[in-house]
Amino acid sequence: MALTREERAELDQLVRREHQRLMAELREEIEQSRQETFGAVEGGVGDSADEAVADLLSDLDAAEITRDLGDIRALEAAMARLADGTYGRCHECGLDIGVARLRAQPAALRCVVCQEIYEKTHAHSPEPKL
Ligand SMILES: [Zn+2]
Repeated sequence: MALTREERAELDQLVRREHQRLMAELREEIEQSRQETFGAVEGGVGDSADEAVADLLSDLDAAEITRDLGDIRALEAAMARLADGTYGRCHECGLDIGVARLRAQPAALRCVVCQEIYEKTHAHSPEPKL
């Protein structure tokens, strides 16, 4: 089932809100990362334990920032699809993605079936768990 005008408007809002939220989060992460790096440099110069902690922190920040950037790009691509009228159609099979999935994942590019196939064929490292 293709999206109704109301559903499309609702998802358009969702995409924009999520994009704004992630942009704010990203700005915060970059700011935090900068302060941590600064603090580590100011603090234990030559202290290998502190340096290790600082390295770990910046690695974690980098991973988070990279993930947010990926999500932001996906949302921007979704905005472009909303503008050109291809939003809600599966990128792989061309069928409708379904409004329930889009509500949960507004930037979804694939239907559930194609997403599963994609994830099986494109093995990616799991999210780091702390
Ligand atoms: Zn599909």
